[in-house]
Amino acid sequence: MSLQRTAVIGAGTMGNGIAQVMATSGCAVTLIDVDEAALARGRGTIEKSLAKLVSKEKITAADRDAALGRIATATNMKDAAGASLVVEAIVENLDAKRSVFQGLAQVVDASAILASNTSSISITELAAAVPNPERVIGMHFMNPVPLMKLVEIVRGLQTSDETTAAVDALSKELGKVPVTVNDYPGFISNRVLMPMINEAIYCLMEGVADEEAIDTIMKLGMAHPMGPLALADLIGLDVCLHIMQVLQDGLGDSKYRACPLLRNMVAAGKLGRKSGQGFYQYDA
Ligand code: NAD
Repeated sequence: MSLQRTAVIGAGTMGNGIAQVMATSGCAVTLIDVDEAALARGRGTIEKSLAKLVSKEKITAADRDAALGRIATATNMKDAAGASLVVEAIVENLDAKRSVFQGLAQVVDASAILASNTSSISITELAAAVPNPERVIGMHFMNPVPLMKLVEIVRGLQTSDETTAAVDALSKELGKVPVTVNDYPGFISNRVLMPMINEAIYCLMEGVADEEAIDTIMKLGMAHPMGPLALADLIGLDVCLHIMQVLQDGLGDSKYRACPLLRNMVAAGKLGRKSGQGFYQYDA
């Protein structure tokens, strides 16, 4: 199977990046969002990102024009018809995603692969919403999608070997490094990352060290590109809290309890970069 026609549902942070990578890899992609303004913003982000690649001489102006020519936008899911792969990247909400999967199953061929970019929702549960659950899989791209090499491929309980092999090959065609894991709460990326971030917040709450000290120790001592508190601000503290809850609910172990300071910060609307204030202060 090769990349020919694809669709991406959701034109936000992740969806526009996924559409860009598909288009630059030579594949026709329909970017679909319920919100016209989100589609316009998504297309604008792709144009800016491709312009940057041209100015850095990573691609030519002709490559940019060809990639832009491969991206269509739409507000109706019916426009996913004909796609051999659909990647869903809408809001992180099980009911909303389930309803998108049910809708997609009505419009695409029974052989089309249905992938979700979810960071924490069970692929097995999403697959249960459609006939042929063996063609449902997780394709967890990292942010920013055009720059980050990893795709964490998540096999649901019923995902077939054929679907997994096809998505592995497609990810390589996109210039990514796919790594396959089984469907478990938080997969690997967030199961390992989030408890580390949560522990850093406990250290701050207990007064072991201040923000700068905690982040500097992890950056210089462990060669992490960012400290855990700065990374939490980038991800969004509400997203971090949600993933800790998924880990605790899904694994039932109190070691995954969210730090009370994280809960309080989210309750106070201190969500990190997106709200202008998290563990650090950000200019508007
Ligand atoms: P976002 O809020 O930036 O974008 C979501 C988009 O989905 C919005 O444009 C919204 O209008 C659209 N949308 C909502 N409901 C829809 C529907 N029913 N049909 C079509 N479009 C719909 O979100 P995001 O940060 O891009 O995250 C998308 C997914 O990717 C989530 O599942 C998230 O967990 C996952 N993810 C995010 C990151 C990240 O760093 N942001 C990283 C990895 C994975």
